[in-house]
Amino acid sequence: MPNSPVWDIAIIGAGIVGCACAAAAAAAGLRTAVIESQTPGGGTTAAGMGHIVVMDDSPAQFALTRYSQLLWQEWAPELPQGVEYSRCGTLWLARDETELRLAVAKQQAYRSQGVPAEMLDAGALAAAEPKLRPGLAGAMLAAEDAVLYPPAAAKFFLDRARAQGACLIQGECAALAEGGIKLRDGRRVAAGEIVLAAGAQSTGFMPGLPIAPRKGHLLITDRYPGWLHHQVVELGYLRSAHSLAEDSVACNLQPRLSGQILIGSSRQYGATSAAVEPGMLARMLQRAMDYMPELAQLSSIRAWTGFRAATPDKLPLIGAAEGHPHVWLATGHEGLGITTAPATAALLLAQMTGTPAAIPAAPYLPDRQPETGEAHA
Ligand SMILES: Cc1cc2nc3c(=O)[nH]c(=O)nc-3n(C[C@H](O)[C@H](O)[C@H](O)COP(=O)(O)OP(=O)(O)OC[C@H]3O[C@@H](n4cnc5c(N)ncnc54)[C@H](O)[C@@H]3O)c2cc1C
Repeated sequence: MPNSPVWDIAIIGAGIVGCACAAAAAAAGLRTAVIESQTPGGGTTAAGMGHIVVMDDSPAQFALTRYSQLLWQEWAPELPQGVEYSRCGTLWLARDETELRLAVAKQQAYRSQGVPAEMLDAGALAAAEPKLRPGLAGAMLAAEDAVLYPPAAAKFFLDRARAQGACLIQGECAALAEGGIKLRDGRRVAAGEIVLAAGAQSTGFMPGLPIAPRKGHLLITDRYPGWLHHQVVELGYLRSAHSLAEDSVACNLQPRLSGQILIGSSRQYGATSAAVEPGMLARMLQRAMDYMPELAQLSSIRAWTGFRAATPDKLPLIGAAEGHPHVWLATGHEGLGITTAPATAALLLAQMTGTPAAIPAAPYLPDRQPETGEAHA
């Protein structure tokens, strides 16, 4: 492979996951290259909501999201303003007594793992978010959840990596090759180890990977400072995220530091066009307005879509690729890749360098036996 130096690690994809892996690899002293065909952070990362959230669909998901949330908290003092990191907390909304019991069970699960969580009754909820419709039963507040602007966070990791000697190579990877990667334009990148972090496009390199694209819509409003204070999510979001087959929508609202409000979210399997679908967008907005009717009076700026990389058990693939020596996977993050990028990088680097990891890596190894059934985001 004569065209480039021999890198210790070449990473395919400069989304938030690839950039976080690059920062971790460069910090570990490894000669690191990241290869990206588009704008770094411009793929699904740019389409995401940037909710840094603890999720408890499974013990493994809880462990990964919480570990990564704590890593984000460590990064927080260093994040530039443009990353718009804000610890606004999440309000998990309960419509009725049945959902309130779910919220209480969720609170107990969080607390049993040392994650702060408190219950708000109907009055306290109305005081916390006055634009919510009356009549909701209450909410669970996860005060340590945060929000950020994902493409800027990806750039932060890439800048860190480059400051420590990593190189960004602009080009389209065509295939894995012995000792490196072939680019579409004929160049070759030689590397001892390859990390596949191409998100929903990872199956282009390994068609057998258990990853399916799952389309999502988002919409952003004009600026309304002080209109919304927390990330506000209906508890039914978990059902929406769980569904492995049906199209679904759920109320999921995010306050940006700019005063804009991000409105989500939808989930679709089998959709291949990136076009905004008016029917799906209308369903999503109607659901949001069921919880906050005054949203109807706000101006929207833009709507868009993105493709999550979904695995059957809703856990990412982090570790050695089966049957591909020297190839590692950091992909399949579905709706939690912004949250879990720092933990993914830490777990991957621990495996690659044979150092201990902070949480067990087994549930995320690519050769795990996937649990069938329901899971998240
Ligand atoms: C609507 C929506 C809302 C979301 N909300 C949240 C949220 O609130 N919180 C959260 O944690 N997550 C959220 N997510 C999920 C999150 O956005 C993803 O999990 C995350 O961005 C995945 O990052 P990635 O780096 O794996 O993939 P990507 O960002 O897609 O990066 C992969 C990169 O690889 C590059 N690439 C692909 N093929 C090649 C090739 N052949 N050669 C070179 N480069 C290549 C692409 O150009 C791309 O830049 C959301 C997703 C969607 C769609």
